[in-house]
Amino acid sequence: MSTVNTKPLIQLKAIQVQSNIEIAPSVFVLSFPREFTFRAGQVLGLGLSSADDPRLYSIASGEKEPDIRILYNIKPEGHLTPSLAQLKPGDTLWITPPFGNYEGSNEPGYWIAAGTGLAPFSSMFNSGMGGNKIVIHGGRTLDSFYFSNELLEAFGERYVRCCSQQAGDGVYHGRVTRYLEKQDNLPEDQKYYLCGGAEMVMQCREILMMKGIPFNNIIAEIYF
Ligand SMILES: Cc1cc2nc3c(=O)[nH]c(=O)nc-3n(C[C@H](O)[C@H](O)[C@H](O)COP(=O)(O)OP(=O)(O)OC[C@H]3O[C@@H](n4cnc5c(N)ncnc54)[C@H](O)[C@@H]3O)c2cc1C
Repeated sequence: MSTVNTKPLIQLKAIQVQSNIEIAPSVFVLSFPREFTFRAGQVLGLGLSSADDPRLYSIASGEKEPDIRILYNIKPEGHLTPSLAQLKPGDTLWITPPFGNYEGSNEPGYWIAAGTGLAPFSSMFNSGMGGNKIVIHGGRTLDSFYFSNELLEAFGERYVRCCSQQAGDGVYHGRVTRYLEKQDNLPEDQKYYLCGGAEMVMQCREILMMKGIPFNNIIAEIYF
């Protein structure tokens, strides 16, 4: 009788947690020293032991920064994130090498995210790719606009916060999808990067295509 090997195929490597800070209710930024190169937009796997089935996370820090930062939220019934949130500086964590083809570019375009889906765009921004981008970030509450101070400073009016459940100064009251539906004259020759849960990504893609954006100009990363 044959058996199925459920162990991860990629060898995990131990690293030491540098910091693990709650930046909004149940949302954390985890950091550890960078000992590898990666391309902004890539992900890596995290586990609590070498035998763990790793979960995937976008790298949120820049390509040249000394630390790797991961932006994550706790899934209360989840296998990894409730324990991940308990980690303290010096604790051991297991990581895969970075991988993935979701990559930033220096071409003009839109970065459209929901929730922690902002992470790859944070990496692209911190890697110097933000100069010609428009950032559209969706969150349920006003405290879900992670890194908003630095984004406001860098992007000004090119940084749009869409809040579905609360109204706030300078914040669009509604979902990202509604904001996109109301936009006219979105340039058809620019790239539209999407990142978030499956429903948000699929709805945004559909809206963009209805507005004439070619399929090939819509580049999506789905968190599942
Ligand atoms: C390419 C990619 C990149 C990603 N990047 C990020 C990122 O940057 N940041 C981020 O926060 N996440 C990211 N994710 C999601 C991440 O990989 C994990 O799926 C997420 O953090 C949940 O992990 P977990 O082990 O805590 O939950 P899991 O154990 O995987 O559970 C997932 C969901 O199932 C529910 N669930 C699990 N068990 C039960 C049960 N017994 N009964 C009821 N419900 C249950 C949980 O509530 C949770 O909602 C990414 C995913 C992909 C695919």
